[in-house]
Amino acid sequence: FGSGKMFLPQVVKSARVMKKSVACLIPYIEKEKKLKGLSHQSNGKIIMATVKGDVHDIGKNIVGVVMGCNGYEVIDLGVMATSDKILSTAKKEKADIIGLSGLITPSLDEMVHVAKEMERQNFKVPLLIGGATTSRKHTAIKIEQNYSGPTIHVIDASKAVGVVGKLMNDNEKSSYIDSIRSDYKKIRENIHSNTKNTLSIDVARSRKPKYNWDTHVICRPQKEGITLINDFPIKELIEYIDWSPFFHAWEMKGTYPKILQNSRYNIEAEKVFTDGKKILDAIIANKSLQAKCVMGIFPAISTNESVITEDIEFNFPRQLIDKGKESCQYSLADFISPIEDYIGVFALTTGHGVQELVKDFESNNDDYNAIMVKIIADRLAEAFGEYLHKKVRTEIWGYVKNESFSNEDLIKEKYQGIRPAPGYPACPSHAEKDKIWKLLNVEKNIAISLTENKAMYPEASICGWYFSHPNSKYFNAKDLL
Ligand code: SAH
Repeated sequence: FGSGKMFLPQVVKSARVMKKSVACLIPYIEKEKKLKGLSHQSNGKIIMATVKGDVHDIGKNIVGVVMGCNGYEVIDLGVMATSDKILSTAKKEKADIIGLSGLITPSLDEMVHVAKEMERQNFKVPLLIGGATTSRKHTAIKIEQNYSGPTIHVIDASKAVGVVGKLMNDNEKSSYIDSIRSDYKKIRENIHSNTKNTLSIDVARSRKPKYNWDTHVICRPQKEGITLINDFPIKELIEYIDWSPFFHAWEMKGTYPKILQNSRYNIEAEKVFTDGKKILDAIIANKSLQAKCVMGIFPAISTNESVITEDIEFNFPRQLIDKGKESCQYSLADFISPIEDYIGVFALTTGHGVQELVKDFESNNDDYNAIMVKIIADRLAEAFGEYLHKKVRTEIWGYVKNESFSNEDLIKEKYQGIRPAPGYPACPSHAEKDKIWKLLNVEKNIAISLTENKAMYPEASICGWYFSHPNSKYFNAKDLL
């Protein structure tokens, strides 16, 4: 691994054997050390945490295991770790490095906060930034400038070992840090040279897509109002699983099923796939996870960037970055009629039961399967999303009558309509989740809660809206960063 001989799943899998043997050996090692007057030696001490308000830890846990395998002492503070907890632990433990992880966009601000606190408290240790929502660009522009110690974005677990190795090596450390600093400086300089033109809201509105609502035929739902499913059979979700992201979670690039034949991975893709399916079979046999959803189709109308339904007003920002006179500046509200229409809203989870399974595996030193359970639970949530969307199109709302798509077609989104999710580019605000929670009574109905930064707990959960308009599509309404 690192030298290209091992792939991530193999490394993580090997951790169990290692941990078990270390567990057996520790009494002897300690005795030996006492005899020789030695203290505990590791390659370095790393604090790892998913920041406050965030609950996602698959990537962090993988990094933790990999660092452990490479002789580092990892102190994992888990999820929703406050700045205070991270920094006081770092002081107490005399940590060599602090690693922060996050999935949702508000975590970026939380990371900025931790960086500022590190500066204020006079920290000098390297700060590593990782997780799906993070980037080199954001680290360079928003985080690094708040902390005078080294601040480095780590793209994935396979890179973490190399980065930490350089930071812990006295010969390499300073030249490595210098090169990162100059890299990030360039990024900051470039951002000024390619700022894009932003339109006023009035001009942007004048360029919204124009649909003829007078002739538009709205489809009344077969079933209006709320539908609750409390325990959907997981087995029926298997055919809807998109397996490609399963491999991506294990840092194997490619598309399923072709990836199984990719010579680059030899038999390792096949092996991790077999292990994943084994867990999936066990989950089904033991009924260890529950799939729950609550959704509804409601009468709705749009004005400007709002969609009003029941007593709720959803806000869907319009694209303001100038796309040129010939192009449309979209808001999701454009896909709903201002006269009479419907919108769908949903929340679902396959995460109830995950914690228990993870605990079982962890108490057995089996990090590989503990991580595998989370990855599979995520796959099931997305599969449930795909299944439910189809059910909505063909039955509950019923705006399409005959649809026969293969799973591959569904993954490619060949169907009519979209299911955008709050926090994603077309609707970047996570605050909309509060409105979905109120409208569908999500917490009471299916027990998904929201953290202070609107991360959903349990983790394997998704939510969003259904738009049926034939022209509805995904786009990016985010600001530059
Ligand atoms: N087959 C994938 C499906 C999830 S990713 C999987 O199993 O992981 C695609 C989902 O992300 C979409 O269904 C939508 O909910 C969301 N999404 C993607 N692009 C989006 C955008 N620009 N705006 C809002 N939501 C988006």
